[in-house]
Amino acid sequence: MADRLVLPGVTLIDGSGRDPVQNAVVVIDGGTIVAAGPAVEVRADPDSRVLDVAGATIMPGIIDAHCHLGGASFPDEDHWVLEDDRYQAIASAAQARRMLQHGVTSVRDISVNGTRLRTAIAKGLIDGPRIVACWRGLSRRGGHGDARGVPADMVRASHPWGHVADGEAEVRAGVREVVKQGGECVKVWASGGGLHDNEPEDVQHYTLAELRVIVEEANYAKVPVAAHCECASAARDAAEAGVWSIEHGEDLDEETIALMAAKGISLNPTLVLLTEWLEQTSLFGGPYGKPYIPGVTDLPDDPEEVRRMHHAHLSANLMAAKNAGVRIGVGSDSYCTDLTPFGPQTLNEVHALVRAGLTEMEALVAATRSGAEILRIEDRVGTIEPGKVADLLVLTENPLDDIANLSQPNMAMIFSGGRLVPAGG
Ligand SMILES: [Zn+2]
Repeated sequence: MADRLVLPGVTLIDGSGRDPVQNAVVVIDGGTIVAAGPAVEVRADPDSRVLDVAGATIMPGIIDAHCHLGGASFPDEDHWVLEDDRYQAIASAAQARRMLQHGVTSVRDISVNGTRLRTAIAKGLIDGPRIVACWRGLSRRGGHGDARGVPADMVRASHPWGHVADGEAEVRAGVREVVKQGGECVKVWASGGGLHDNEPEDVQHYTLAELRVIVEEANYAKVPVAAHCECASAARDAAEAGVWSIEHGEDLDEETIALMAAKGISLNPTLVLLTEWLEQTSLFGGPYGKPYIPGVTDLPDDPEEVRRMHHAHLSANLMAAKNAGVRIGVGSDSYCTDLTPFGPQTLNEVHALVRAGLTEMEALVAATRSGAEILRIEDRVGTIEPGKVADLLVLTENPLDDIANLSQPNMAMIFSGGRLVPAGG
């Protein structure tokens, strides 16, 4: 294939949130976008190769700001520690490839494999998205990144994404370990996550003092902090301490939202994951604890009513943050192969943002420009403009007409760094 490719006659959604450009042309050379805009303004070089994509829609590759390429097969915390590390390392390469084959060209990953996957992908050894790696995240003892049913030394050696640290001295050392291992962002579980009765979502796990130490130490290393916060107090203290993003964040009070907007703290609402989690709770016959809807203590018996309340709560919470000007990202939270499929789950999350109240364009911006900003790689990706890396999706249908058009079968071409990658189921 010629180095210089011309993609004419397309509808261009550039990721910035600007109106789409009809009858646009995108030109890429090697791995870089060299021109993008209305056909009358873009002149193709005579040596270029012109691709027949007329009528298609082109948008930036999707950015998933929260996933776990830990290679875990099952949604069970003891299993994911006990499962063979080498098998998980191999499986994580397949998880990464699958994300790319669904148009996900960059991710922020929280897993022990991420720093190594990042290198293997960057070297071209394996196919996968560009990775901003967090390595393992910090969890208090008995928290969401620990495991109850296996010995502590096994957790330390084999947890795919958790690193147990208690108290200010240990969390400081934990941040240093993350940085030593190549982490470019520090993940912390500031609240429980509902894996079992000892760590329900509405319990704060790290003190404000511990969170401040984590942020302070991360600042020394010039890396941001991403905080899992499922209860109001954890989110408030994380925002107060100065984290860079709040993950899940389904219980944000007005004060926290105002703080997030003022400090530029992003929100990854992970709506699909939280909805799946609800389905995995005891009410629905799953292994996890009780359904969690912030502020609701008396749940109705009717599962349909619980689902409706859950959706209404998540949507209102997200829209309050969005309307206050908080940057919203797309986080699949894909963490195991059999429950949270790598790739499809990211696309579903973009769809879910629209069901919760964002416009199609706002959801696409969350998946592109905002994602790049959350990953702090907006100088390279996230929008289609000259000088940026050629991470592009060529879609047969326009996702602004119906967000469901952002689907793998509609991806006629996926470019990652200017290289055509095969779409895959
Ligand atoms: Zn997660």
